[in-house]
Amino acid sequence: MAAEKIPYKIYLSEEEMPRTWYNVRADMKNKPAPLLNPATGQPMGYEDLRPVFCDELIRQELDNDTREIPIPDEIRHFYKMYRPSPLVRAYCLEKKLGTPAKIYYKFEGNNTSGSHKLNSAIAQAYYAKQQGLKGVTTETGAGQWGTALSMACAYLGLDCQVYMVKCSYEQKPFRREVMRVYGASVTPSPSTTTQVGRRILAEHPGTTGSLGCAISEAVEKATTTPGYRYVLGSVLNQVLLHQSVIGLESKAALDKYGVVPDIIIGCAGGGSNLGGLISPFMGQKLRGEQDYRIIAVEPASCPSFTRGKFAYDFCDTGMVCPLAKMYTLGSNFIPSPNHAGGLRYHGMSSVLSQLYHDGLMEAVAVEQTKVFEAAEEFARVEGILPAPESSHAIRVAIDEALRCKETGEEKTILFGLTGTGYFDMVAYEKFHNGEMTDTIPTDAELEASFARLPQVPGQD
Ligand SMILES: *Cc1c(COP(=O)(O)O)cnc(C)c1O
Repeated sequence: MAAEKIPYKIYLSEEEMPRTWYNVRADMKNKPAPLLNPATGQPMGYEDLRPVFCDELIRQELDNDTREIPIPDEIRHFYKMYRPSPLVRAYCLEKKLGTPAKIYYKFEGNNTSGSHKLNSAIAQAYYAKQQGLKGVTTETGAGQWGTALSMACAYLGLDCQVYMVKCSYEQKPFRREVMRVYGASVTPSPSTTTQVGRRILAEHPGTTGSLGCAISEAVEKATTTPGYRYVLGSVLNQVLLHQSVIGLESKAALDKYGVVPDIIIGCAGGGSNLGGLISPFMGQKLRGEQDYRIIAVEPASCPSFTRGKFAYDFCDTGMVCPLAKMYTLGSNFIPSPNHAGGLRYHGMSSVLSQLYHDGLMEAVAVEQTKVFEAAEEFARVEGILPAPESSHAIRVAIDEALRCKETGEEKTILFGLTGTGYFDMVAYEKFHNGEMTDTIPTDAELEASFARLPQVPGQD
């Protein structure tokens, strides 16, 4: 194609926004392993999951075959308030780095919740409303998911009850207040409002909580309150499905200019933004149409892919949830509280875990001081103040671009810039004051956690 000048921002029109989500499972030869009932060790079917999740979302969760799933009009309508999101050519960063690499990022922080989580929040709230439910419960760690869900529930007139990991509840009072602006009720977790919360508090007095604890509380609350279901902002197959809108838009924008990325990079907490970003590209790779290098970036303090085990494990600390087969550090693993921001989850999406296990993607772990260095380097030339989570992807994008500078290769890099960091200024402050440290778990700590993985027949 002619060397048409590529603009700083490639926008799609509303008409060009995807009308269907893409389900990458349809193209996977090795499907992600099913959720198991912890009591019986048997796969969980539609009826088993109904007490916890909304009906339509269970169908999406279990559907490994339908390639394209229509986005309902009301969801598309909501998407139009903040989508399509821009795909930015990072000309300023390229210049600053002096790299021949071409860097693109898909920016998902252009909405009040400040992250990509709104893409799935509106979908999940929509199906809950369709089913005639009164409300939903959930957990939130850093606060982005709780905020996104509060916004979606407010829009549709659903009640929203959020269990917020206690250390975030205390460190991020403004996040909490944003959720309350949108009408959500917010409880610090672990709390005394649930049985499992009281048990965790008794076993670990003074704990600052974890996502795994908050999930247990939210699930218990949903299953014991009539007219309520539980929703989750990451990890699940359905969430990756909704987030495929990120990858579909990115690909449509790049296709307009005939650009094909060589390397695709995203941060990985539970895997939803990365799964969504890579989906259409991974689909091509799985169908043998095109090859890409795909890199998941995780914190060295919570290294599920790079140091975890591929095994069935609980999704929560209280062991009330189904078992998922995934790369996990063990549901008892609680990452160091000095680790800033999100990406603190012990497990990983089953879809991404299977793809990683099959050698279709790579993973790297990075230390948080290096992540914040990259965040500032990026902010100073590209303008956007990035979330700490997103900055993991920035770190590796910069590292890959610097490698191109050494080798002279003109690689095209695409990374996901998942959100903004306005509520993470305490972490930035620690970084500026030189008080930020990297707490990396020892092998002995991980082994102790692995020793408590559940025993499932047929697993070593
Ligand atoms: C939640 C979040 C993440 C990590 O979650 P994934 O499910 O792995 O995408 C990354 N970035 C931001 C800004 C987030 O809010």
